Amino acid sequence: MSDIIFYHPEPAPRTRHIRPVFIPFAGCPGRCVFCAQTAQTGVGPAALSERYSQLQKELQLAYEAGESPFELAYYGGTFTALDDMWQEKFIALGRQYRHKGLVTSIRCSTRPDCVDVAGLQRLHRMGLDTVELGIQSFSNDALTRSGRGYTAHTAVTGCRIVREAGLGLGIQLMPGLPGHSEGAFLRDVRTACSLGPDMVRLYPCLVFEGTLLASWWRDGRYRPWGVARASVMLGMALNTFWKHGIRVIRAGVAHVPSLAGKVLAGAYHPALGSMARGEALAGLVSFHTLMLGGKATELYAPRRFQGEFWGHRNTLVPRWARHGLGRSNVHWWDKSFFLLS
Ligand code: SF4
Repeated sequence: MSDIIFYHPEPAPRTRHIRPVFIPFAGCPGRCVFCAQTAQTGVGPAALSERYSQLQKELQLAYEAGESPFELAYYGGTFTALDDMWQEKFIALGRQYRHKGLVTSIRCSTRPDCVDVAGLQRLHRMGLDTVELGIQSFSNDALTRSGRGYTAHTAVTGCRIVREAGLGLGIQLMPGLPGHSEGAFLRDVRTACSLGPDMVRLYPCLVFEGTLLASWWRDGRYRPWGVARASVMLGMALNTFWKHGIRVIRAGVAHVPSLAGKVLAGAYHPALGSMARGEALAGLVSFHTLMLGGKATELYAPRRFQGEFWGHRNTLVPRWARHGLGRSNVHWWDKSFFLLS
């Protein structure tokens, strides 16, 4: 029987430290049905002037303390829909500390229907480097049923506008929105790949207390994806993005203290990212096992994947057994490639 050698497809991570600056709901045209920025960020809505002065102080303190350089990221609102004056002030503040060597680059998040080439080019000239678009889905059905207020065409166009303005592009997707199926999510993943983003974030839709989605969930009108379903789908998405050389910088909503008791339902689990990585790895090895007729006799794998290989609480053990693999014939080594026989 011949041996098969293959590498893990994940692109090398960038060791870039991001310092988030939350401006919850600032610039947002409405409150999206699923959005609970205050709970997610632990930061309450505040006047922009207050947020700005606070940031001025934080940056100066960080500079004086000799902190390591970081990327400054404006998150939690619709940055490009702020008054021009505030967009410029926040970017200029970042640029000031870039000149001092504290800030390496600047990014913001916004909606795809709130960008235009001229506006982004202006921000780019001022110092903005990257825009993360809260696309959520490219499915018209999911966008309509979630009340996002734009179409798939607008979502695609928004991504192209960011590129045309010469900026780095991040795409955020939200599997499991109302009206979203597994098939629609996989189509979203393929569409996102075709747009060539620099990075992707995957946040399964959760039901947060205080949102409109919470009332739909209580009425039985909405059922979110559970952990098992989400981890399988995220695993498939990871493999697809990685094969296209696209980094996925987050899979699953982060567990933060401010969310305690606020998530009513959905795929919320501290190990969701790791589970998704395990699913992706299982998909990758299974694919190569098929070339051996579906059963392998031995696997040598890079040691760094040991933690995710068997799945959270060994959930992937039966799956490996179907391919003839178990603890006795899976070996860990210090090489960077897999060897399957
Ligand atoms: S999802 Fe984005 S656009 Fe919608 S309310 Fe939240 S921050 Fe604003």
